[in-house]
Amino acid sequence: MWQPFTEEHEQFRKTVRAFAEKELAPHADEWEADELFPNWVFKRAGELGILGAHFPEEHGGLGQDYWYSAVKAEELPRSKLAGVTMGLLVQSDMATPVIRDLGTKEQIEEFLKPALAGDKIVSLGVSEPAAGSDVAGIRTVARKDGDDYVLNGSKTFITNGTRADFVTLLAKTSPERGAHGCSFFLVPTSTPGFGVSKKLKKIGNKSSDTAELFLEDVRIPKRWLLGEENQGFMYLMQNFQSERLIGCVSALAGAFYALEYSVQYGRDRTAFGKPIIKREVWQHKFVDLYTRAEAAKAFIYKCVDHYNDERYVKKGQVSFDTVKYISMAKVLVGDVVSDVMDTCLQFHGGWGYIEDFPIARAWRDQRLFRIGGGTSETMKYYIAKLMGF
Ligand SMILES: Cc1cc2nc3c(=O)[nH]c(=O)nc-3n(C[C@H](O)[C@H](O)[C@H](O)COP(=O)(O)OP(=O)(O)OC[C@H]3O[C@@H](n4cnc5c(N)ncnc54)[C@H](O)[C@@H]3O)c2cc1C
Repeated sequence: MWQPFTEEHEQFRKTVRAFAEKELAPHADEWEADELFPNWVFKRAGELGILGAHFPEEHGGLGQDYWYSAVKAEELPRSKLAGVTMGLLVQSDMATPVIRDLGTKEQIEEFLKPALAGDKIVSLGVSEPAAGSDVAGIRTVARKDGDDYVLNGSKTFITNGTRADFVTLLAKTSPERGAHGCSFFLVPTSTPGFGVSKKLKKIGNKSSDTAELFLEDVRIPKRWLLGEENQGFMYLMQNFQSERLIGCVSALAGAFYALEYSVQYGRDRTAFGKPIIKREVWQHKFVDLYTRAEAAKAFIYKCVDHYNDERYVKKGQVSFDTVKYISMAKVLVGDVVSDVMDTCLQFHGGWGYIEDFPIARAWRDQRLFRIGGGTSETMKYYIAKLMGF
């Protein structure tokens, strides 16, 4: 099989794995119960280069390729904390790529560098109570007023939202122009008028905080506009590719991890006189799941390779072909991961339903993947459009 990783990537893998298994996993039960992982996790991930490995050195990153990001996303699920994985990936691959691509020198200094160092926590603020899949329907408005913008509206489902220092936020600058009237802003959460209206209670990914936010006459200087006015939707579509791709990598890695510990469980657990993994009915199920997961991994690596080539080697935009493949990957991974987790839970019998076993949490956590960052149905809607149906 194709092996894209160099010795340097593997060295980085060891660092991330040690962080996940030794520094995060021991706290899993506590942070899930608290429904919040502590802020030091961002700082520590920054120190280890986990947040900024694939960002340029002049932005505070390690100046490495996108495969480093994939390595990180493959290893973080070993924390057994999908919520922490999500919180960190928002910081490194969802809320910040757009700053790297469009940020002015001042924006890089003020927002990106501290985010990659883990000194500032960041959220991506796109979804709203009345608009999730249909992003063009957002209602938050940014009105120009002298040298400022004044923002009014609300955001919901915002990861890291209860404690973010700033939000990479999409708002309408020309509401009458729909998708062509959106702009991206960097909004410090300490700005008067900005607040958290609710911390949302979730069925999974509990260690991550998810918030509803309000903006009431939030006044920010024009210099916190990212890129050009009214180009925000186009920037978001590019940014989504990083978000979806890294989500695919980590969700699938979580599934491989669940397969690994489930098979081990099946070696230890006996019924009717032999280990349950020795039953052919289960062996075939696991063979099928491993086959589908390996096929999905090969496809994802292809997507990572395309993304790396277009963004890091050629330093251009993500092509429509790659957008199509990443969207397909998200649907595929959603289905594979869901089947893996469900079968693994069943394989644990009653213990699969008990919180002491990691599969119980993993089964709940994975359900988000077919929704967050674009639902499977929305992905298919875009794929059909891209294929000209
Ligand atoms: C835990 C969690 C964390 C999140 N984190 C963030 C975050 O950090 N930042 C952020 O901005 N957002 C975040 N989200 C929001 C997430 O991206 C949205 O929930 C998602 O995009 C779906 O939007 P929606 O919930 O409004 O569903 P809706 O858009 O209302 O969709 C409802 C249903 O309609 C279907 N549907 C919609 N359009 C179509 C179509 N064209 N064809 C067929 N079916 C369709 C959908 O598939 C879905 O089944 C998060 C969500 C969750 C649950």
